[in-house]
Amino acid sequence: ASLVTVLFHLGEMATATQSLDEDTFRTLGAELGYDVQIVSPEDEERELLAGFDIDLDAELEAEDDDDLAPRPPVVTVMGHVDHGKTKLLDAIRSTDVVADEAGGITQAIGAYQVRTVHEGEDRAITFIDTPGHEAFTAMRARGAQVTDIAILVVAADDGVMPQTIEALNHAQAAGVPIVVAVNKIDKEGANPDKVMQQLTEYNLVAEQYGGDTMFVQISALKRQGIDDLLEAVLLTADAALDLRANPDKDARGVAIEAHLDKGRGPVATVLVQSGTLRVGDAIVAGNGFGRVRAMLDEHGKPVEEATPSRPVLVLGLTAVPGAGDTFLVAPDDRTARQIAERRESAARAASLAKRRKRISLEDLNEALAAGKVETLNLILKGDGSGSVEALEDALLGIEVSDDVELRIIHRGVGAITQNDVNLATVDNAVIIGFNVRPAERVAELAEREGIDMRYYSVIYQAIDDVEQALRGLLKPEF
Ligand code: GDP
Repeated sequence: ASLVTVLFHLGEMATATQSLDEDTFRTLGAELGYDVQIVSPEDEERELLAGFDIDLDAELEAEDDDDLAPRPPVVTVMGHVDHGKTKLLDAIRSTDVVADEAGGITQAIGAYQVRTVHEGEDRAITFIDTPGHEAFTAMRARGAQVTDIAILVVAADDGVMPQTIEALNHAQAAGVPIVVAVNKIDKEGANPDKVMQQLTEYNLVAEQYGGDTMFVQISALKRQGIDDLLEAVLLTADAALDLRANPDKDARGVAIEAHLDKGRGPVATVLVQSGTLRVGDAIVAGNGFGRVRAMLDEHGKPVEEATPSRPVLVLGLTAVPGAGDTFLVAPDDRTARQIAERRESAARAASLAKRRKRISLEDLNEALAAGKVETLNLILKGDGSGSVEALEDALLGIEVSDDVELRIIHRGVGAITQNDVNLATVDNAVIIGFNVRPAERVAELAEREGIDMRYYSVIYQAIDDVEQALRGLLKPEF
């Protein structure tokens, strides 16, 4: 509360849980007599890798123009709910000739690439298969910028809606050019002109109106206008962006989606951003490491190498990375392991920095009333990074009163482990397992330590319980 007061005197209105921008932090630091250094995830990564003689800046500087080759644009589809994002991603996927050859079966690996002929040239476009700006923003928060172009889907019968504006704000804040797909033009009452008009207010001015934003009328349902849309994406990419990368070096990129596969162990879809990833490479992704045992493309076909902008499913990691974690190829297995260990201990140190006492959901309200706790710490484990993120978003969306704070101190994909229980012990946290459970040995440890562990398979039930606990209404379980 005292920080809020200081901010208030500086002329900044803030609440206790709000995040502040960098300038405010600096001003605040100066006011309190501290030298504030803003450490971005990129800086942390840079510093960590420098310890292993991997110098990202020197590498980029040494790069010659001749080393750079064109790479396909990476596209995210955004827009208001029900405006047709999923349908559009399906429609685009079905235009791919390669998919036809492979028997039309496309695996959902979190991203896919399609080929199209543009001005007589065979071109590829990569699509992130998770629609919406939430995933986009979650990745950006981790310092990963994967999207080059955003397709903003607006239903022509509905027009600009709140999430349309939210999505375009996120894209514009990230400096990502937007192509507008005016969808559902097959519907009665479709009014594409109105959409164009509405969007001029948000600096998206159609070429017809003298602006430089491309608007394409489509029907995702009837699969009309899809080629024009792909054309518009490539035209926008060529006009606004210089998409090139050096394919002739060790690969770097971002994990887009990952989960624990019963038969294959941790599998991760990674997007190569520079260099070329090859089977046999020693790789670190998040705090997982290993040798690339095999790579599969979006058709489930094995591939030997992946060049920039190529998404591939990677097998052979020891742990499941989070969506937005960076990956890189290390010089050897040992270095890969050490980088992963360093990342893990850095993450653990960050969590340990917030020690507290033990708590269960049932006695939360009593503890709150007695002033023994002010925070409900949660550890989330789930069967996929998508579900964990959805759960986290929903939990963080719970309205809490002023005297309690809800904090998610750790989240991850896979079974509940001894490490999770240890963390819950030191940080006094409740563990929530979404479609995952602990091994017997781990369950015993949790029991001994008095850790409250709860299992759910439906998100809203988890939300409900946490909400009830916060209000002191949760009945004890017997
Ligand atoms: P999302 O929430 O943005 O992913 O939207 P969906 O792709 O799930 O689409 C929402 C609904 O709109 C579904 O019932 C679709 O069948 C329908 N829909 C999507 N595109 C079109 C279209 O071009 N025309 C018509 N008539 N309906 C569409």
